[in-house]
This record gives sequence, structure tokens and C-alpha cells, in this order.
Amino acid sequence: MTYVIAAPCVADYSCVDICPVDCIAPSPGDDAFDAADQLYINPAVCIACGACVEACPVSAIYRIENLPQKWAHYAELNRGYFEGSPA
Ligand code: SF4
Ligand code: SF4
Repeated sequence: MTYVIAAPCVADYSCVDICPVDCIAPSPGDDAFDAADQLYINPAVCIACGACVEACPVSAIYRIENLPQKWAHYAELNRGYFEGSPA
């Protein structure tokens, strides 16, 4: 079980501030942040608390099983962002 960030994300990082396990990236201090079109949730670390959903001003965060079909590929985009990085 995890949550996924999809297309509406405007990279305002409200969710980064609220995540209790720091599994949303890139964060404002990261080199990649300025160039980021959106943020991503690390599915290996997310504890599915749902806090980020409330924090998001554009409703970009979904439980993976509730992802709209048109954004189904965002599950892989989120997972793939962390590929090769420690969990
Ligand atoms: S559901 Fe909770 S743990 Fe997972 S990304 Fe959102 S705030 Fe972080
Ligand atoms: S709160 Fe929503 S819009 Fe802001 S960075 Fe997180 S997912 Fe993107």
C-alpha cells in the first residue's frame, strides 16, 4: 500500500513538510528541486498515513488503488524516481 503523486502536482512542497517519514522528494534543499515539475513518493518508505493528501492544495495525491486510469502510469513514475537510491 502506498500513495502516488500524479499530474496535478505544482511542486509547492506542502506535502514534504507534513510527511512523517520524509519519503517525498525532491525536497527544497535538493539540487533537483528547482528543476522539478512534480514531486514523487517513495513507495518503499511511505507508511500510507494519508497526511499528505490533506496538505495538497491541488488534490494530486492518491492511494495507489484509487489512481484515475489516465494517471495509472504515475505509480511507476513515482517508484522509478527512487530506483537505485537507498530505501
Ligand atoms: S501517505 Fe503519509 S507517509 Fe506516505 S507520503 Fe503521504 S504523508 Fe508521507
Ligand atoms: S502538496 Fe500537492 S502540489 Fe504540492 S508538492 Fe505535494 S503533491 Fe505536489
